[in-house]
Amino acid sequence: MRHALREARTAFENGEIPVGAVVLDESGDVLGTGHNDRERSADPTGHAEIVAMRAAAASLGTWRLSGCTLVVTLEPCTMCAGASVQARLARVVYGAVDPKAGAVGSLWDVVRDRRLNHRPEVVAGVMADECGALLTEFFARRRVG
Ligand SMILES: [Zn+2]
Repeated sequence: MRHALREARTAFENGEIPVGAVVLDESGDVLGTGHNDRERSADPTGHAEIVAMRAAAASLGTWRLSGCTLVVTLEPCTMCAGASVQARLARVVYGAVDPKAGAVGSLWDVVRDRRLNHRPEVVAGVMADECGALLTEFFARRRVG
């Protein structure tokens, strides 16, 4: 999560909503990292999780991220939760909850929907205060600015 937080800070410095993500393999080695880059890339799918999953898939040479763990500072949205199921991730670990758009337990629970044939394990609330504080600071500054 510390690594994901570093990514989130990079997004913050770039004027992007500060969310960071890391994909780890089974032994805990980093396969891919990402931070929100929607503004820079002008890409509606430029969420940290998608960027990190793309990097991990590229480094493995396959879309299948079986056995891998996604670590992200904010609860994934529906798109990212869906992508984590599509990627066959073993585990989704997130920091702050997102009551307004979260799809891993808050508004929806996409990754644990029994109608889907793959359901990643979920670990929520890891370093949630640090992850949330970065977002709070970002939006507070944006209101002032
Ligand atoms: Zn997302």
